[in-house]
Amino acid sequence: MKFSDFALSPAILKALAKCGFEAPTPVQEQAIPPQLEGRDVLGLAQTGTGKTAAFALPLIERLGGRPGRQPRQPRALILAPTRELAAQIDDELRRFGSGLSLRTVLVLGGMSRANQTRAIAQGVDVVVATPGRLIDLMDDNRISLAGVETLVLDEADRMLDLGFVRDIRKVAAATPKNRKTALFSATMPKEIEALAAELLNDPVRIEI
Ligand code: AMP
Repeated sequence: MKFSDFALSPAILKALAKCGFEAPTPVQEQAIPPQLEGRDVLGLAQTGTGKTAAFALPLIERLGGRPGRQPRQPRALILAPTRELAAQIDDELRRFGSGLSLRTVLVLGGMSRANQTRAIAQGVDVVVATPGRLIDLMDDNRISLAGVETLVLDEADRMLDLGFVRDIRKVAAATPKNRKTALFSATMPKEIEALAAELLNDPVRIEI
């Protein structure tokens, strides 16, 4: 299988070639087509399998990349358990979105809040966040999630272990009900199944 077998735009295919990505990994083969068709996805996949691209590519495609597009309110939100993972996701998004004038912002604790709120005020397409700081900005009306079309929960089991479940529910509740949602987790305990049942709409299940 090749990336060009997916309904991805030429700009994304070009960025993938530049990254040296030749063939999709199994999680990408399974997860990309349903998301491009607008389905929710529940993915059981470990780090290192290529799961970042598995959610990032359809997300960028759905933004409908047009150079010169004016970003305003965030249209996609990715939640991750740690700063390190969030920064890695942001890096991959930037690589795949090069040439699409994609605006992303990292919303993380322990980094300048002023820089983050300024970037958000200037307009962004994608927010990559750890739950704590995002809740903080929501409580202060520094960010609106009313325009979020795509929500991704990455390493959901680790977010659960770190005690972020209430935050995740609060964040999801601030996004539109008709959003698309993808949830990835390395394990599928009962609590994750329950969260998935609550937040995903008739998801396609993927297991790697
Ligand atoms: P992830 O599991 O998303 O953290 O990805 C693990 C590593 O594999 C990252 O460095 C990715 O950039 C890389 N990667 C993901 N998908 C592919 C692919 N289809 N071809 C080559 N490298 C990839």
